[in-house]
Amino acid sequence: MAEAATARSTLRSPGFSLVGHALTFAVYILLALWAAEFTFDKPEVPLIWPATGVALAAIWRFGYGVTVTVFVASLIAHLALDFIFLDATLMAVGNAASAVLGAWLLARLGFRGDLSTLGDLYRLAGVGVGVTALFSGFGGALVAVGLSPDLAKAVLLCWLADAMGVALFAPLFVSLRKERFAAGRWLAVTGALLLVAGITLTIYSNWIPDQIALPLSYAVFPMVMLVALRFPPWVAAAAIMVTSLVAVHCTAMDKGPFAQAGMGPDLLSLHAQLALLAITGLALAALRQERLAAEARARQHLHTLARAGRVNAMSALAAGIAHEINQPLCAVSSYAQSANRLLKRGADAGELQMPLERIVATADRASDIVRRMRGFLAEGDTEDELVDLNQPVGEACGLMRPEFRRREVELRLELAPERVCVCVEPLGMQQVVVNLVQNALESVDAAGNAARRWVSVRTSVMPDGRNVCLTVTDGGPGLANPGDEALFEPFITTRRSGMGLGLSIARSIVEAEGGRIRATNEPGAGARFDILLPLNRDGCETDGGGE
Ligand code: ADP
Repeated sequence: MAEAATARSTLRSPGFSLVGHALTFAVYILLALWAAEFTFDKPEVPLIWPATGVALAAIWRFGYGVTVTVFVASLIAHLALDFIFLDATLMAVGNAASAVLGAWLLARLGFRGDLSTLGDLYRLAGVGVGVTALFSGFGGALVAVGLSPDLAKAVLLCWLADAMGVALFAPLFVSLRKERFAAGRWLAVTGALLLVAGITLTIYSNWIPDQIALPLSYAVFPMVMLVALRFPPWVAAAAIMVTSLVAVHCTAMDKGPFAQAGMGPDLLSLHAQLALLAITGLALAALRQERLAAEARARQHLHTLARAGRVNAMSALAAGIAHEINQPLCAVSSYAQSANRLLKRGADAGELQMPLERIVATADRASDIVRRMRGFLAEGDTEDELVDLNQPVGEACGLMRPEFRRREVELRLELAPERVCVCVEPLGMQQVVVNLVQNALESVDAAGNAARRWVSVRTSVMPDGRNVCLTVTDGGPGLANPGDEALFEPFITTRRSGMGLGLSIARSIVEAEGGRIRATNEPGAGARFDILLPLNRDGCETDGGGE
């Protein structure tokens, strides 16, 4: 599935990616100059340093080759901030080295970068906030205050600034990737990000009284949580970054609920809220991805099981199919012999036409059986399609007819005259029909009642007009315990050669399509299975086919 986790390779070896270098340089300089506005008074160190997050993400993403760009960007940024050349160089070395160390550790720890698991988040937090930010923060503090009594405080502040830079900015840059969203979904992503920005701006401008603005600052939590539950992690990371940019900027400009006691203390208390927001949003997004991946795995298991079921069902139909193919082969042979005889007698082309046409028609019949068989055993498409239910039902019944003929049981097929469109996986529906019809055939055959050797398959639209019903009824002895749900549990069987999987697979497939299956006994007949599937009215406009 599209949004389920896709593993990313480990860190790239040194190489040249023009986009990587250019993006790293531009984003690093921009964010460094932006954050340089927000510094503590004593010691004079930044209160947030997003460049650390950018450097870590860039090296992890584009490879060690980007280290030089990080160094140059950091050097230029610090020179632009009036650092003397030696200090700017030391700062740049510290920034680049801490990012290289972090990226190397991330790669060693198997960091995937898509933030699709909690494990990925822990790795980014441990390495980014723990190692890179600490290393970079220590270097920065040392350059800023030297071995003075302020060093401990400066290290703490610098680490905090770098840690916030990693927590709020690195997640987007490591997880951002090409998405093949439909236009509507892109619109939803853009709308959600604009809404998050708008809400944050409203709260952090001075339009709302302080008493209300502070509790309202928590309004971004549900917004980011919603984004995390609806979109891939990079969108949640983008929402967190957008909120952070707006909130930090406004607070530093002495606006909003956190603007109370001067830029330093204000930004530090804002950090606490933003850190909580990042943890909540990213953890929820990762949990959503884990759930999607688990669902995809469950679907894959169902497909594997279903395919095994089809192979098993096919073996039960093999005798009838072999017979059905043998018949046209014999017919082709005898038509060919008669054409040969006609040729020897010197017959003209007109006389040969009839046996040749019959050969073609008979061979077509045989190849139709082989086509159905191959279709049924195919790997199958895992995507749902809008189909006329009559089509897979007709295909499945066509596949089973030879076995019915061989066992001399009547197969009654009553397809709804109109198109009954449902959104299902066609092969899965074929399998459901084969499983139910085969059970019915076994049951009728074993009962040995000559007057009730029939199985009926019906499709119809329910009177409510919202559902389609597929009914399989037989003339057998019926279910021993009608209505007993245990019938649908795996490995429940009363047949000596049964595996007890047919009904369980059928129910899993039907429920995965949003339908229901019910087992009862039909008065005056045998067992009756009803499958209800939601009717898709939009698909019922055009014409469809059957068996
Ligand atoms: P299996 O066919 O391998 O036994 P299923 O899951 O398909 O496994 O069926 C489970 C049980 O349900 C069967 O063993 C049988 O007892 C009962 N059953 C299913 N279909 C019918 C039917 N049409 N008539 C009577 N009993 C049935």
